[in-house]
Amino acid sequence: MNSRATDRPLPRAVFFDMDDTIFDHARTCRAAIEVVRSEDSLFRPRTLNELWREYYRLLDSVHSDILEGKLSVERARRERFRRLAMFCGTSISDDDAQSLSNRYRAAYQSLRRAVPGARALLERLRGRTTIGIVSNNQVAEQVDKLEVLGLRDLIDLLVISEEVGVAKPDPRIFRTALARARSAPREAVMIGDSWANDIVGARAVGLRAVWFNRFRTRNPDPLAVPEITTLRDTARIERLLAAPGRPAPRRARSSAPP
Ligand SMILES: [Mg+2]
Repeated sequence: MNSRATDRPLPRAVFFDMDDTIFDHARTCRAAIEVVRSEDSLFRPRTLNELWREYYRLLDSVHSDILEGKLSVERARRERFRRLAMFCGTSISDDDAQSLSNRYRAAYQSLRRAVPGARALLERLRGRTTIGIVSNNQVAEQVDKLEVLGLRDLIDLLVISEEVGVAKPDPRIFRTALARARSAPREAVMIGDSWANDIVGARAVGLRAVWFNRFRTRNPDPLAVPEITTLRDTARIERLLAAPGRPAPRRARSSAPP
């Protein structure tokens, strides 16, 4: 694509959430569950989609406990498989849960993938704005993902909850990102899939936000927050990112952002 998406300049900084915004956690998870299901008859009473949704729900339900240090990552992984087996009508031992967790983990690691369009979008923005990742997770996990996906060199800065000590939507993690990008809140935009963490959190600090509504749920505030449902439409995303009301010199202003 050679055409410019907008005549207005990009913001000083663009921050992306990581999981299910840049990294395709949901589809990687589904693919890994498919591997485990194909290897173990205990999961057969449920369809792949039923298992995936339940596993995803279990992931979400314990994620904050892990972030707060109330639950170890290993214990949480075992517990998810114990509960997933219960979901299929079977009670399993801790050892069996550990074994399933290990197999899932190996499949997940080898099947990691980016959200479709993420690379092209980052490449298009690269060098024209400061690109940051603001993520609730562990540093090693997120750095490893970026390196496996070959995206590490497209990111200018990482702000991960483990090293900052607080998680989104806490304002301090967004202020840390702004400080590292040497950006005022109004000069930065946050893009993420979590309404509560990414959108509400960023706006509370004064950033603009673009909601990545990947799974097409209801936008709680469509007048205030533009949404995208894919990263593939880079021209539209650029228009949404561009600072409103600041036409570039010598060029006619294009249409206003929605
Ligand atoms: Mg996310």
